[in-house]
Amino acid sequence: MFASCPNCCTNIKLERPEIGQKVVCPDCFKNLVIVWLFPIELDFEQTKPVSDQIKYFSKN
Ligand SMILES: [Zn+2]
Repeated sequence: MFASCPNCCTNIKLERPEIGQKVVCPDCFKNLVIVWLFPIELDFEQTKPVSDQIKYFSKN
């Protein structure tokens, strides 16, 4: 399976993708994380836990 890097759009081959799995882009070396499957979506790795993000968004 392939996912595209959100930074440089390179196709990254993933053997057994799982949500939350960390991936390093082979082209731009960004730290990425798999946030969704079917289709695979990658996002930049967050340093904050997911629970903090949910709190942040629910305040708005
Ligand atoms: Zn990249």
